[in-house]
Amino acid sequence: MDWLLALMLLWGSLEDASEVYTQQQEAIVAAHMQAEVSMFDNESIANSTISEELAIIPNEVQQGDAILVRSQSEQTITWNDKSYTLLPFGLGYYAILPVPASMKPNVYSIGGQSLTVLKKSFETQMLEVTEEQAAMRRNTERIKQDQKKIDAARSDSEPTFLFDGPFLQPVEGRLSTPYGFTRYINGALSGRHNAIDLAAPEGTEIKATNSGKIVLAEELYLTGNTIYMDHGMGLFSQYAHLSKLLVQSGDRVEAGQVIGLVGSTGFSTGPHLHFTFWIHNVPTNPFHFFESSPFYWENNNNL
Ligand SMILES: [Zn+2]
Repeated sequence: MDWLLALMLLWGSLEDASEVYTQQQEAIVAAHMQAEVSMFDNESIANSTISEELAIIPNEVQQGDAILVRSQSEQTITWNDKSYTLLPFGLGYYAILPVPASMKPNVYSIGGQSLTVLKKSFETQMLEVTEEQAAMRRNTERIKQDQKKIDAARSDSEPTFLFDGPFLQPVEGRLSTPYGFTRYINGALSGRHNAIDLAAPEGTEIKATNSGKIVLAEELYLTGNTIYMDHGMGLFSQYAHLSKLLVQSGDRVEAGQVIGLVGSTGFSTGPHLHFTFWIHNVPTNPFHFFESSPFYWENNNNL
């Protein structure tokens, strides 16, 4: 073989190999891109978010809400005096961050972007309970033991999004106590109600708000039969006062799967579901999530 011909053949095969390599890389990038875009409810919002160096979704919230942060580069950002490392997902890096109910209304800077926190009015609720029930809240030893279990369950969240699509309200039912109410029990200030109470008949089926992993399902002293579910990236849902638990710690569940039944176990005055979201251990208004998702929040500025 002529040396020139040999060289030309070699050159050609190298070019083919590099073309195959490039095609493989492009396919991987396209798959990551698709995984990310499919989390949004609208492709144009997905594309505009992905095109930004750092996006805050939404950029206007109320006290007790939350935000989704998306960055093109790996980084740690500071928010409300805490550091959060964004975790890789798709082609970007993400975090879901809480806006505590106690945070002062203001315009804040986060990762070089501005976030407006609007005032939300939290009302006051006077609750009357029996002396026996009131005494439960003074058993601080039992309450501390349970808090250790809860802290352990919430200490480790999967570093990816376990949820997909909109979050569901776990039971229909009358909203008997909204999120964030300042509560007085038998005339004494007991603090903020960091959840919603949905009154429903005993035995009503409770649905998983979205897909996730059960990290705690057991009877606790104040919250009765209780479930904590990990949805990934530091986001957990909590279900309390159940009459029956239908899942176990470690179970993977789908959105809408029945996980337990409404009851009145623990510190409770009647059958209801006490429900909330915890984001990096901060309780968050559930109504920000229902029929929505952190990826849809851009559309929901007026909620
Ligand atoms: Zn409650």
